[in-house]
Amino acid sequence: MKVTAAVFEEAGKELVVQELELDDPKDGEVLVRLAASGVCHSDYHVVKGEWGSPSPLVLGHEGAGVVEAVGPGVTTVEVGDHVVLSWVPYCGHCKYCNTGRPALCPQVQESAYQSVMLDGTTRLTRDGEPVYSYCATGSFADRVVVPETGAIPIRKDAPLEKVALIGCAVATGVGAVINTAKVQAGDTVLVIGCGGVGLSVVMGAALVSAGKIIAVDINDDSLARARSLGATTTINSAKTDLADVLHDLVGPDGVDWAFEAIGLKRTIETAFQSIRPGGTAVIVGQAADGVTVEIDPLVMSDREKSMIGSSYGTCHPAVDFPRLVDLFMEGKLDLDVLIARTGTIHDINKAFAAMGSGEAARTVIAY
Ligand SMILES: [Zn+2]
Ligand SMILES: [Zn+2]
Repeated sequence: MKVTAAVFEEAGKELVVQELELDDPKDGEVLVRLAASGVCHSDYHVVKGEWGSPSPLVLGHEGAGVVEAVGPGVTTVEVGDHVVLSWVPYCGHCKYCNTGRPALCPQVQESAYQSVMLDGTTRLTRDGEPVYSYCATGSFADRVVVPETGAIPIRKDAPLEKVALIGCAVATGVGAVINTAKVQAGDTVLVIGCGGVGLSVVMGAALVSAGKIIAVDINDDSLARARSLGATTTINSAKTDLADVLHDLVGPDGVDWAFEAIGLKRTIETAFQSIRPGGTAVIVGQAADGVTVEIDPLVMSDREKSMIGSSYGTCHPAVDFPRLVDLFMEGKLDLDVLIARTGTIHDINKAFAAMGSGEAARTVIAY
């Protein structure tokens, strides 16, 4: 069947909207008619050339839609189900899947991280040549074929153009708080970077009744959004010295948790320097290829300071996505604050330009 998609050819060039051919779902695969896709910073990493990727490639990995067909052997979703796409098409039976950490499943590395299906091939073609699907989702297209475990059924009364964001930013940010870190009520939380993921970290911290929630960014609009989501203090680090403010707020020791949601050397090091003895810096932001950081290991041992990583919010999509949708429907997660505007697939390059200008909230592409 024909689909309309935004295709990435090479770094630094605009995406081109064009028709592609989409094959039927094969064994263990699902055809989804997308309702919406968020535009995420990870897509932008590829557009800018900060992450290598095969091409031609359909970017996008934060989608939601309705199942139109299922391939042989599919058991967990059926035609008509509303689904949020997951870029963690886990196997369900390896050591990582069986211990609740499907984002670490080797199958995810072999498929999603290579932008191919589980058998190593693509379902999209252009003039007979393969076209890759970013993260085995490729949600900048009106229809997608994804592995069964990449399509997570949710309740049917949830607005798909909003809950699409649960498929990346919200799962990553809220999950980092409630799954990876398991922040306790009253803990002090520093959030560095208030894009979609950082704002979702703020949301997660508010959800678990963290004490002080200190949000840092260099964009005042991002900080206003953080305040509306529950940040108790916001700091524009381009105008104010973060260390001084932290000293006033939490004393010389530092915060219990520092979440880094940008992926830059300087901010990752700042996160580590901001935690108290026994505290933890959680690296949620995705650094460009080749970035390294400098940490004083004696501080780690002597002061028991930790730095941990969080991939996809250590979430189990099949459990966490419906739970996050419920929280949204109960009014406990404000996804509107993450959305700047809704556009069409033809607005995709404008969406990246807005992101490049430092805008925190996302463009959502509606189909
Ligand atoms: Zn993303
Ligand atoms: Zn697995």
